[in-house]
Amino acid sequence: MIGETSDGFGTRAVHAGQAPDPETGAIMTPVFLTSTYVQDGVGEPRQGHEYARVTNPTRTAMEINLASLEGGDHGIAFASGLAAIEAILKANLASGDHVVCGDNLYGGSERLFRFWERYGIRFDYVDTSDIEALHAAVLPATKIIYLETPTNPLMQLTDLRAGAAIAGEVGALLAVDNTFATPYLQRPLELGADLVVHSTTKYLNGHSDVVGGAVVTRSADQNERLRYQQMATGAVPGPLDCWLVLRATKTLHLRMRAHCAGARVIASHLDEHPAVERVLYPGLADHPQHELASRQMSDFGGMITIDMGSAARAEALATGTRIFALAESLGGVESLISVPARMTHASVPAERRKAMGLTDGLVRLSVGVEDVDDLLADLDRALASID
Ligand SMILES: *Cc1c(COP(=O)(O)O)cnc(C)c1O
Repeated sequence: MIGETSDGFGTRAVHAGQAPDPETGAIMTPVFLTSTYVQDGVGEPRQGHEYARVTNPTRTAMEINLASLEGGDHGIAFASGLAAIEAILKANLASGDHVVCGDNLYGGSERLFRFWERYGIRFDYVDTSDIEALHAAVLPATKIIYLETPTNPLMQLTDLRAGAAIAGEVGALLAVDNTFATPYLQRPLELGADLVVHSTTKYLNGHSDVVGGAVVTRSADQNERLRYQQMATGAVPGPLDCWLVLRATKTLHLRMRAHCAGARVIASHLDEHPAVERVLYPGLADHPQHELASRQMSDFGGMITIDMGSAARAEALATGTRIFALAESLGGVESLISVPARMTHASVPAERRKAMGLTDGLVRLSVGVEDVDDLLADLDRALASID
């Protein structure tokens, strides 16, 4: 089979989970638009498929592909990133349990966790870029350490190897949201994480036309628990969405190289720009965790956050560009610009935003794969009109 673990990332991206259709020779995996499957006898499904909430061949191909890219053994797909994150909670937590989280999570993850507090789960938020702070926050009741690195939009990194060691000490699971970095740049399972979660909506699909999520693990026990959640709670992605993601991951390595190359040029340029107060990008030598980023990631990603100094200047930039489109989300081939405090992170209480440094002047860029000269000119033109 092409796309086995001995093959390189790009080869697995194109082939893992997929083989030409044995009946027709079609080189692409079909979109299996079916809800059920005929049985050869009572209780004798033909190829193990009974009902499409439980299994769908297009979904299975995508799950194998994502598992291969993350260096895992099992991929479990969900209808959205948040459904995948919630499945991790449902599969592993009971009332009285404790979760330690990074303090700068995706806004929707924090909103989801607040809902779970009703059921007696306690969440503590700490700056996990400080590994001692993470260590100090862990309790005997801690069941999950939940991290994002780099964070959104503050671009702080957490040392995943150190995080895995702390989780191991108390028998907690280390779950990492790898949406920002993608497996092309960072593979948490290889650094000791138990679970990797994705919003496939972002870089994995990369074309801004699907909402989806997935968990990848090496643990047979976690696979069983998460498969059960997938079947029993039913937040599954449709076959066409799975097919779109499967098509998109074929070019993940190419897209990520282009995103990283563009972001590197733009970050350096903005770093020198007099109208920009500060640039947060792990690839810049003055990023406080540049050394960790160089060690833990193979490149620095396509996301840049800049500090414009005030809400008014942030808004002027975000509404002044021509190519960078004003929108939430990230990771698509087209460049996007947003103001986190008023868009993606508006659901985070104002005092928490303030405490973590998520100020109103921050602007987040998702650098697409357009010509970088056009992107630079677009930003320069917009910046020139701001005083
Ligand atoms: C978008 C996003 C999510 C949520 O995913 P959905 O597919 O929108 O449900 C979770 N984590 C991160 C880092 C994200 O960017």
